[in-house]
Amino acid sequence: MASLDLFADPVDLTAALIDIESPSHHEAEIADAIEEALRRIEGIEVQRFHHTVVARTHFGRQSRVVLAGHVDTVPLADNTPHHIEGDVLWGCGSVDMKSGLACYLRAFARFATSGTSPFDLTLIAYEAEEVATEFNGLFHLERDHPELLEADFALLGEPSGAVIEAGCQGTIRVFVNAYGTRAHSARSWLGHNAAHALSGVLSRVAAYEPRSVEIAGCEYREGLNVVGMNGFVATNTIPDEAQLIINFRYAPDRSIEDAKAHLEEVLALEEGLELVWDDVAAGALPGLDHPVAAGLVEAVGGEFRAKFGWTDVARFSSLGIPAINFGPGDPGYAHKKDEQCPVDQIRSVSTILEAYLAAED
Ligand SMILES: [Zn+2]
Repeated sequence: MASLDLFADPVDLTAALIDIESPSHHEAEIADAIEEALRRIEGIEVQRFHHTVVARTHFGRQSRVVLAGHVDTVPLADNTPHHIEGDVLWGCGSVDMKSGLACYLRAFARFATSGTSPFDLTLIAYEAEEVATEFNGLFHLERDHPELLEADFALLGEPSGAVIEAGCQGTIRVFVNAYGTRAHSARSWLGHNAAHALSGVLSRVAAYEPRSVEIAGCEYREGLNVVGMNGFVATNTIPDEAQLIINFRYAPDRSIEDAKAHLEEVLALEEGLELVWDDVAAGALPGLDHPVAAGLVEAVGGEFRAKFGWTDVARFSSLGIPAINFGPGDPGYAHKKDEQCPVDQIRSVSTILEAYLAAED
């Protein structure tokens, strides 16, 4: 088994993590290596759940900070082992998110050993973030061991270009179904066209002007879009069923209920159309006004921006724990064959994180 040195230079530790290949559903080896390295730290609690590892300090501090990152990657694309070219580290997971994981593991190891942080720390290295929620290690913890997520502030090491990305947008996906009567298109008056019944909804969505809203210094841009259409029977047939798939990305100042009510109002479905809620996820407020978060904002020089996608940050927010993304790498390189991360971003995240965790209360 590969042995990890959690106290190594964060770039070297990232490289070592990349070289333990860990596409989703194949995380045993990397989880073993992380668990073994954490168990070498004396006086902390280490727990293992399938391929998720949780380590906690118990220094009796007033506040607890979670450092979380997933250990899996998307499928390999001939992009391991790592290589370094100039100031750039290449390899599967260099961005998403073994560089962030390396910074978090190193910071945890350092302060769990020295006991010099004003915070108690929880390190969560979890499996299966890149696949369906039912496999997600953080989802399993939230469901089965929510006490292990308890904290005053949570950091996720997802790539954010080494700046703080606060909160995230919520998302709703709905199906709008229309039913009609099938007929030959040469005698269309004998039928009732289900596709045409959707034209009102389609044009209302197309004409919708999404809101842009500023919350605690972060700008969130909403979006309402038709992302799919179904309804084909044959080229000479009036379709008797048709469907629009609609996605609403909404700013975190709306609750799920508010967002659903707003969507229903915009869609204003005509009689006979059917609305099916397919996927509904809450957004997450930035949470940077929390005193435990303020130190990190200070450590990055006061800079932060909104996160547009949905991330596991929202899982913490739903538990009432402010959470942010903070990790090296351009998220635009995530999941790409030429995945690569500037080494200075890895060093910068590591330095800022450790300065924050070392700061006085
Ligand atoms: Zn990720």
